[in-house]
Amino acid sequence: MVATAPAADLVPQERRLITALPGPRSQALAARRVAAVAPGVSSTLPVYVERAGGAVLVDVDGNHLIDLGSGIAVTSVGHAVPEVVAAVSGQASRFTHTCFMVGPYEGYVEVCEALNRLTPGTHDKLSALFNSGAEAVENAVKIARHATGRQAVVVFDHAYHGRTNLTMALTAKSHPYKQGFGPFAPEIYRVPMSYPLRDPAGMSGTEAAARALGMAEKQVGAATIAAVLIEPIQGEGGFVVPAPGFLAAISEWCRANDVLLIADEVQTGFCRTGAWFACEDEGVVPDLITTAKGIAAGLPLAGVTGRAEIMSHVHVGGLGGTYGGNPVACAAALAGISVMEDGDLVARARRVGESLRSALGGATDRHSGVAEVRGRGAMQAIELVRPGSIEPDPQAAAAVAAACHRQGVIVLTCGTWGNVIRLLPPLTIGDDLLEEGLSVLVEALDEVLG
Ligand SMILES: *Cc1c(COP(=O)(O)O)cnc(C)c1O
Repeated sequence: MVATAPAADLVPQERRLITALPGPRSQALAARRVAAVAPGVSSTLPVYVERAGGAVLVDVDGNHLIDLGSGIAVTSVGHAVPEVVAAVSGQASRFTHTCFMVGPYEGYVEVCEALNRLTPGTHDKLSALFNSGAEAVENAVKIARHATGRQAVVVFDHAYHGRTNLTMALTAKSHPYKQGFGPFAPEIYRVPMSYPLRDPAGMSGTEAAARALGMAEKQVGAATIAAVLIEPIQGEGGFVVPAPGFLAAISEWCRANDVLLIADEVQTGFCRTGAWFACEDEGVVPDLITTAKGIAAGLPLAGVTGRAEIMSHVHVGGLGGTYGGNPVACAAALAGISVMEDGDLVARARRVGESLRSALGGATDRHSGVAEVRGRGAMQAIELVRPGSIEPDPQAAAAVAAACHRQGVIVLTCGTWGNVIRLLPPLTIGDDLLEEGLSVLVEALDEVLG
């Protein structure tokens, strides 16, 4: 094997700005992009990436940026981690594709074994692999419908499940995800989420669940519902953490009514929230669970894992796809999972979460424009509102994010109203780098919120 220094060693873990952002090379690429790339595909950052290592992105002008977004909760183990680089290049040199439906291979089986072992519940499980979160969610719905013989799927306000036709229907927010892209798939029913900041004061998790389930019973009918699909903590919808007890009450109702519970852990899964999966915090064991984002250290891979009797209900040949469970992606996943287990990234995510909360807690106290700091583990957000109200303030969120980006710190926004700043740093980020990134964010908040 040719010895190449992994990028993590080549990329110093520090912020270093040598041009204004975007620099001249990024500007030149932006101009080429306008002539070549469909404008419907947008980018958060104005800079073009040349390499990345650990928690630092290096742009084409040589600027070093602190990554507090992990490419939307994907590179949780960090960028260009040596173990992952070695596994990927090793697998790429052996074979890159056979199609598991044509010539199967060990990596696919091993990733399924890992998913069956790591996901909540001690029951017998089976898994199938796909390429993206949306594809995993689509397949979970296919499986649930097949296994129950029912069609209706219940989803929640503020939910995000992807951009394919079925997952657009499952997703709540119209612009930019759905507008102009209909008609949408039928038999999808939306009910209220538990959103403590915006629910009636004092509404408990069980009360919020009763509100949602009462609506499902009256407007859909329990006997026609195949599945309730929920993100245990909503991602794109604004890092909405339901009130304690909400998820458990939904889960109990599902069991009592022979409705399957599908947990979409595409964003929350793989150590992000300080547990392997966010359902664990509420002691909830879903019937089916979808995974993607953090699963394979940046390579495209997704999974559906579920009760063996549900997963095996689908006839032979009913599930699959040309690329699903690609061998290079499986190698990355297995290396990434080892890094997570060996480095105890579950515990690390909790510590990162404590740093995030202590840095941001002061901002809530200082600014009435910060309605709430919320999240779990290394998935934390601040919701910005017009002072003295809970009216969303997307302009403030955009201004804070832009100020961070100018200073070389990558933060993302989210939320139904676009008024939430979300933080998803690599779980392996060093304490000093994290503190520096957060101090830039706090300065930006002070500057924008005054
Ligand atoms: C990102 C996301 C998806 C869609 O995943 P893609 O890989 O972009 O298709 C689905 N569900 C949740 C909860 C997500 O965060």
